[in-house]
Order: sequence, then C-alpha cells, then structure tokens
Amino acid sequence: MELDNSNYESILLNHHLPPFTNYKDLNQNGVRIISNASGNYIYDNDNNKILDAMAGLWCVNIGYGRSELAEIAKEQMLKLPYYNSFFKTNNIPTAELSHKLAQITPKGLNHTFFANSGSEANDTIIRMVRHYWCLDGQPQKRIIIGREYGYHGSTIMSASMGGMVDMHKQSAKEKDFYHIPAPYSFKYQGNQSVELFSETASGWLEEKILELGAQNIAAFVAEPIQGAGGVIIPPEGYFNHIQKICKKYDILFIVDEVITGFGRTGKWFASDKMYLEPDMMTLAKGLTSGYIPMSAVMVGERVSSKFIKEGGEFNHGFTYSGHPVAAAVALENLKIIENEKLIQNADNDIIPYLSSKIKTLDDHPLVGETRTFGMLGCVELVKEKSGPEFFQNTGEAGAICRDFCIKNGLMMRAVRDGMIMSPSLTISKNEIDEIFNKLKISLDQTFQKLN
Ligand SMILES: *Cc1c(COP(=O)(O)O)cnc(C)c1O
Repeated sequence: MELDNSNYESILLNHHLPPFTNYKDLNQNGVRIISNASGNYIYDNDNNKILDAMAGLWCVNIGYGRSELAEIAKEQMLKLPYYNSFFKTNNIPTAELSHKLAQITPKGLNHTFFANSGSEANDTIIRMVRHYWCLDGQPQKRIIIGREYGYHGSTIMSASMGGMVDMHKQSAKEKDFYHIPAPYSFKYQGNQSVELFSETASGWLEEKILELGAQNIAAFVAEPIQGAGGVIIPPEGYFNHIQKICKKYDILFIVDEVITGFGRTGKWFASDKMYLEPDMMTLAKGLTSGYIPMSAVMVGERVSSKFIKEGGEFNHGFTYSGHPVAAAVALENLKIIENEKLIQNADNDIIPYLSSKIKTLDDHPLVGETRTFGMLGCVELVKEKSGPEFFQNTGEAGAICRDFCIKNGLMMRAVRDGMIMSPSLTISKNEIDEIFNKLKISLDQTFQKLN
C-alpha cells in the first residue's frame, strides 16, 4: 500500500497505541497528524495552522524550527554518535553539559546523573534516596511523600510518587508512597487568608510525617508549580514552611523542575524564584526544548559526597545516560536561551503581559478564576461564578472548550475544567493577543453549547 495523507490516519489507528489515550474514542473520532512546525505554530496534515500555546507538552521552550539544534546534532553524530559512560569512559558533550548545569542550577547542586525522560530521572531519584539512607545506616527510611495531582512520570515508580489516582488505579502504585493534598487554593482555600492557607497546606505534610513516623520517611517530592495537575500555584510562603518541616524531621527535599526549569518561571529555575534549596532536582523537557529526549537528576552535596566517599558501585544507569548527541543539543539549546536573553525578556516583558491579558477573561460568565506563574497559566471554568459552583461532570466543559480552541486554531490543554497554557519563551505579544482572542471566542462557544 502507498502511504499518503489519506491513509496515514487509518494506519495509525490500525497499528499504533499512543500514550494517555482512550483508544475506543480515538478509533471513533480519529487522529490529527501534525506534519511540521515553525516558530510557535504547528501545522496539521489538513493544512490547519494552529498556534501552540502549550509549547508541545510544556517543553519546546525555544520554539520550533531552530536549525542550530539540527546542525549541532548532525555534527555530533558524525563525530561521535554514541559511546556509553559506563565503566569509566565518557564523552565531551556530557562533560560540558554537566559543568554547565552545575553552574546554572541552584547552589549546592553540583553533580548530574543523566537519563532519557523525566520518568527515568525520577526513578533514579527514588533509587538514590533509598541508597542514601541505607548508607546512612537508616535503611528503614523508604517512604516518599508526594502530593495529590502531582505528576512525576509514568513508569511504575514515578507514577507511584505522583498523585494521579487514575494512574494508580491501573496497577501503578507501589507501597511506601503516600500523598498529601495539593496546595490548591481555588479548591481548598475558602475564606482563609493566604498566610493561613500556606500554613494549613504545608501543615498537611507535618501531619503525614507524624502519622507515618519520620524515622520511616526518605523524602518529600514536589513540583514548584504543579503542571499536569492543572497549573496549581502554591500560596506565598508554602515552600518556606515545607522546607522547614523537611529539615526538622530530616527528610530529603526533592524538587521536580521538569516543567518549571529552563526559564519557564522567569528565572533559570523556579527554585531561584521561590528560594528553594533542594537536595535533588529533576530536569527534562526544556533541557533540550524537546528536540531530542534527555533528562537529568541534579544531586546536591549531601547525597553526592556520601556516594563518593562510601557508596561503592551505584548499580543503576541507562544505555543512553549521557548520550553525546542529546548532550550537544542540550548545550546548544542553553546557549540560545542565554544568547537571546530569553529568560530576561520573558521575566521583564512577556510574563507581565501574559498575566495582564489573562485577567481580561475574569469577567467571562464561564470563568471562576484565572492565574499565572511565569509562562504558565490556567483559566478555571465553572458552572456558576458565585460560590464558585463547579461542574458536576468534571472534565466535560474543559474538553468541549479545548475542542473549540483547536477548531479555532489554538492548541491548549484541559485539565479537569481548567484551560491550561504553557507557551514557549519566544512567544510574541502579538501571538499572546492571538491566544486570548481565540480563547475568548472558544469560551463564548463553550458557554453557548453548555447552556
Ligand atoms: C512530564 C513530566 C515528567 C515526566 O517526564 P517524561 O519525560 O514524560 O517521562 C516528570 N515530572 C514532571 C513535573 C513532568 O511534567
């Protein structure tokens, strides 16, 4: 059979099982094939031009079509396409990238362990954390506490660490993982002041520690802003309390910056913005702007020095840990972010613009709340503004609105009934205007359809 535009769709339906997809629904409603992309636009096989307000899956921080990354990948493939970093060999791009990451990540994070995905990096963290406490003579410290709606990946261990109940239900929850509620002000704050709510929400961690026994707990893990959980922004002061609690009970503090890293919050890392001092940090997505798979675990002095002095062999790693082509692409990506001052521009110019534009939707009858942090935004849809009263069938309104957005040439994502955006750092003010014009039309259409 000849392959052409008319039958790629049926071939995919017949032969491919895509991630996080309802296959019955997919087979009934079909698949959209994205054929090419440039700048902040993606193009599908039916020649629709769609403004990508999600930067792929929160990852294409420098936008599409950057030939520098393609050229460096070609150059590195011809020079050294692969060699492993097992057994005391290594390669130059990996050396340069680990040096660069030690420079730009927060103070004290000086060692990198490379993997290929955020999930693998978080699995690596779980092994490191447990290895650490064994070396410390406290092997019973195994429990990891995460949060409701937390997302740390889809391997069994990283999904266990995350707080996505639908994933847990499909056999993805191991023992020794516990969760506390998210600091989700729209849902839980009620009449509490921000100050009080940050004490309440961080207090959930202390309660859980006391319930399980600090002597059994290895680490607490958190995304600074919960991404896949619906752009949940903690109240001011929350992490200040959290860090004190972790110190008080001698629990390692893990920060998953897979989404919030590499400029998304207006600094290199959300940890810089929020004054976090993690023992370990997870990086992926924006590390390569999604041009090639790569992830990294940043390891702080407390853990790395113990491994170096007392650890023996660390029996863990991946064939492609420290892949030279991925490392070269990551370095070039970081160079572009620096040379084009994308983080400073975002912080000074684009982020304030985005946060002022999103507020123009506050009056819309469907909108219960808008919020942003850096280049992350959420528009919460509600049944009734007063209260607010949520939709009974969670997720339905969000899905309707998302479908209208795509029809109108805007790629957004719906989490429950929140409309999510995470545009690239290269998005222009004109393109932000386009996002909100199209989103406003889509909200009106959704409102009409629901009423
Ligand atoms: C996407 C994501 C992951 C998982 O990364 P994969 O590369 O999909 O395995 C982990 N943590 C966070 C915060 C993420 O957003």
